[in-house]
Amino acid sequence: APYQVVDVHELLDATLVMFRAKIPSGVRLVREYDRDLPTVPAYAAELNQVWTNLIDNALGAMGDAGTLTVRTARDGNLLVVEVVDTGPGIPPEVRPRIFEPFFTTKPVGDGTGLGLDISYRIVVNKHHGDIRVESVPGSTTFRVLLPLTATPT
Ligand code: ADP
Ligand code: MG
Repeated sequence: APYQVVDVHELLDATLVMFRAKIPSGVRLVREYDRDLPTVPAYAAELNQVWTNLIDNALGAMGDAGTLTVRTARDGNLLVVEVVDTGPGIPPEVRPRIFEPFFTTKPVGDGTGLGLDISYRIVVNKHHGDIRVESVPGSTTFRVLLPLTATPT
């Protein structure tokens, strides 16, 4: 399918609706949306896969209690989406491997280890953007950067 002009807030909300029944009552969902966020040329279905992977990981990291924050912003020529959780964080020895295909720390049958590999390829290869991660004990932030003007491939 060709790329479209996408309202990222619509995509994020559609993804969050899919998770609604799976969010434990002890997990607070905070949406911090930039009211002036521009639209962006993107593949909507693929970006939804990225949000799904990041939110699934965030919820999995937190278990029964915590705060999931989904934040948007514009930074110059970039649209920024952050998914932040209050889980345990990513251990430093694990951090270099998380984008590798089939790398998972989850029990067999729980994780395929493909979520971040696929997300990276969608954001970087198809949208010419980037995914960054910042993690300390008690907090992990995945930041997706999407160029506002570049043409997706
Ligand atoms: P999977 O979720 O199937 O394990 P992913 O590619 O989505 O595969 O993630 C790879 C690994 O990265 C996870 O197994 C986990 O170790 C780590 N990870 C990803 N997101 C988080 C997070 N929000 N908090 C802690 N660890 C994470
Ligand atoms: Mg995953």
